[in-house]
Amino acid sequence: MTDVRDQLKRPVRDLRISVTDRCNFRCTYCMPRETFGRDYVFLPRDQLLRFEEITEVARVFAGLGVNRLRLTGGEPLMRKGIEQLIGWLKEIDGIDEVMMTTNGSLLVRDAEMLVAAGLDRVTVSLDSLSDEVFMAMNDAGFSVATVLEGIAAAAAAGLDPVKVNAVVKRGVNDGEVVALAEHFRGTGHIMRFIEYMDVGTTNGWRLNDVVPAREIVATINGKFPLEPVDPNHKGEVARRYRYKDGAGEMGVITSVSQPFCRDCTRARLSAEGQLYTCLFAGKGTDLREVIRTEPDKLGDVISGVWSARSDRYSERRSEASLPFPKVEMSYIGG
Ligand code: SAM
Ligand code: SF4
Ligand code: SF4
Repeated sequence: MTDVRDQLKRPVRDLRISVTDRCNFRCTYCMPRETFGRDYVFLPRDQLLRFEEITEVARVFAGLGVNRLRLTGGEPLMRKGIEQLIGWLKEIDGIDEVMMTTNGSLLVRDAEMLVAAGLDRVTVSLDSLSDEVFMAMNDAGFSVATVLEGIAAAAAAGLDPVKVNAVVKRGVNDGEVVALAEHFRGTGHIMRFIEYMDVGTTNGWRLNDVVPAREIVATINGKFPLEPVDPNHKGEVARRYRYKDGAGEMGVITSVSQPFCRDCTRARLSAEGQLYTCLFAGKGTDLREVIRTEPDKLGDVISGVWSARSDRYSERRSEASLPFPKVEMSYIGG
């Protein structure tokens, strides 16, 4: 393994793979209907990386230091045959974990198949326990029960404990935080609250909409006392807390209020094979073209891109010279 380092001496350890830009939800903070409506043109199938091609990119990354893979989207369970990809990714030398982030709506159908294919862990997004709030946020009529049943199916199939992600938006679901924490306390599942981020250019992000993590932690601490826990590994994005009464853990992802760029070890591959070295990048590197025309060069291209990387967008958020337009969350997968 060649341990490639970027300009800030950061290694590459995680590869997030978006397998589709399509989704059955229209979360207002991610794929607002005004942009992602009936006329929106998604990537045509022949432009998506094939599973063989994704596996090849992941294999090269494993040779450069990646040991964790995460499948995402769009909604990753909308890509047909995903279990075959999981099986191939699991066979790569150096890969310790293959994980997935999903909206949970198809987990009742798919959980057992995912476990049989070798998926190690799943993160399910759920922004509220109130149908009214949740449906307003997903804007596609999906109920809370559908997602809770998906989480239960994942746990029953062996993906226990499940991480549950909620994006917190001021005035939309900030009143839901304690109920979510309470629901998952004591279940073994880990609730994580994400600061609403200025990803992409379509969600109309404003700093006033962000609920800082310290406020979320203070709110929960007021009802269920918390204490901080050390990170599991360097580069872990969530700050972890434990309930003092022994009811387990929760976490916050502080990308806006306390950026963690200096430990950022993540690369991102879009569904059509663009490589991004930052969630907020304006531009990627076309790996599909490389695989389809000069496959022997893939290793050199990827290590060249990582070695040149100097991204630290979240630490520089307020500067004027940042890339614009930025890539959309549903395209790059979070
Ligand atoms: N569809 C899957 C899901 O929702 O879990 C996977 C893709 S989604 C883009 C990955 C994660 O990004 C989800 O947990 C979602 O809530 C989060 N996300 C999307 N837009 C966001 C934003 N503007 N700020 C913070 N998190 C966001
Ligand atoms: Fe779909 Fe996930 Fe984006 Fe919601 S956050 S629109 S579920 S990709
Ligand atoms: Fe990593 Fe970019 Fe996020 Fe900083 S802003 S933590 S470099 S993805």
